[in-house]
Amino acid sequence: MRTSEIAKRFLDYFQDKDHLVVPSASLISPNPTTLFTIAGMVPFIPYLLGEQTPPKSRMASNQKCVRTLDIDEVGKTTRHGTFFQMLGNFSFGDYFKEEAIHYAWDLLTKPQDQGGYGFDPETIWVTTYTDDEEARSLWKNEGFDPEHMEILGMEDNFWTTGGPGPGGPCSEIYVDRGPAYGKEGGPSADENRYIEIWDLVFENYEVDNVRSKTDLHIVGELEHKNIDTGAGLERLAYLLQGKQNIYETDEVYPVIQAAESLSGRHYGDDAQDDVRFRVVADHVRSALMIMSDGVRPSNVGRGYVLRRLLRRTIRSMKMLGVDQEVLPQLFPVSKEAMAPSYPELNDTFSEVAESAYGEELAFRRTLDKGTTILDTAVNKAKKDKGDPEVSGKDAFTLHDTYGFPIELTLEMAAEQGVKVDQDEFRKLMNEQKSRARADAMKKRHNVDLSVYDDMRKTLDEPQVFLGYTDFSSRST
Ligand code: ATP
Repeated sequence: MRTSEIAKRFLDYFQDKDHLVVPSASLISPNPTTLFTIAGMVPFIPYLLGEQTPPKSRMASNQKCVRTLDIDEVGKTTRHGTFFQMLGNFSFGDYFKEEAIHYAWDLLTKPQDQGGYGFDPETIWVTTYTDDEEARSLWKNEGFDPEHMEILGMEDNFWTTGGPGPGGPCSEIYVDRGPAYGKEGGPSADENRYIEIWDLVFENYEVDNVRSKTDLHIVGELEHKNIDTGAGLERLAYLLQGKQNIYETDEVYPVIQAAESLSGRHYGDDAQDDVRFRVVADHVRSALMIMSDGVRPSNVGRGYVLRRLLRRTIRSMKMLGVDQEVLPQLFPVSKEAMAPSYPELNDTFSEVAESAYGEELAFRRTLDKGTTILDTAVNKAKKDKGDPEVSGKDAFTLHDTYGFPIELTLEMAAEQGVKVDQDEFRKLMNEQKSRARADAMKKRHNVDLSVYDDMRKTLDEPQVFLGYTDFSSRST
């Protein structure tokens, strides 16, 4: 079943259950505290919080998401993309737990020739929140095997906004890939064997005094209870397509194939190369989708995240032995794979491609020089006694003169088993900032306007993307 068909089945199913199906919102988050849309619920937040009236009390979508928080997992786990699509059904004061559980179970286990996904019920596991006896009994009413249920605490299975407002328990749904993939015993025993595919959030409480995920006060029941669910389309796809991971699905794999022909190496031959192939396929797609929503490479905010994705792609291809330009070979392949689901990619592609290819050329000009400097610094560090460490000064030169983001220096040094003196690097960065401030004061007739620059910078400074760390009990 192609990925687009899996998405269609989800949306058709919920349309049939009287949901209003809406198109994906942009990847550019409407919320100022996050850079990107990180979950299907993000565009619905005003409805979930009761701040706006939804066009319909039941809605469904397939939302484009970017989570750079998961960047280090990419290529190493079977299930994390920086870009992915989250399917979701939502109820704003309409149906609640019983229907949400029934719909999920029904769609997952309904035979494929009847419009469902046809998962074997015996492979499905769920988790529920400690105090949520109701959810457990509703699962059992569906005929669910109680042996396949795990009970988890607030840390894992309770959602809040991070502040006063709605909150409530979750029930996560997993697929057991079987003994060949790891330890028996349920999701907590082995997250590589038991793959989380769908999270059902039951917002039924009003909470306040939220000091942490597990330290909060439940005020009482909400008058209007909400349902917010998120199912990973790529995870469903790899399981339904009988693949080993999300990077081998129909919308992603063509880029791996293009990288194979560029490099002359074969996916599946070498574990380290395989991670690089998967990183390339993931990052190219993320970059394409982010750029199609209007972001361009830069040193701040979203542009910085994009720049990092492009540079990591080029570096990974280099490590696969490819020194010539790669994006002109990879971008069109990703566009072809994604355009059936997102035809608008065709409209923006020439502009997107021009910007991406320009970025590659600019990066290549500094990459070779920077790599030589880094190699020298690494060799110098290796001669030191104790823990080898690249000096902060070298890392600063790489940043300042060769445009190496510190993350790149950290990654490249780590590949050779060497650390970087980040404290010294930060000290030098701060000194540089102070010098720039002093210069600015001179230029502006000795009036210190730097505070305004700082304010502006904090608004669009390169950020470690944390997502709704507190907005959700999901690990976002
Ligand atoms: P995990 O713990 O496996 O990283 P999560 O708890 O962060 O997942 P949720 O925030 O509950 O996931 O998101 C809802 C669904 O979206 C998940 O059940 C999963 O199927 C999918 N999903 C989440 N993060 C990713 C990702 N980085 N790549 C692909 N799919 C994802």
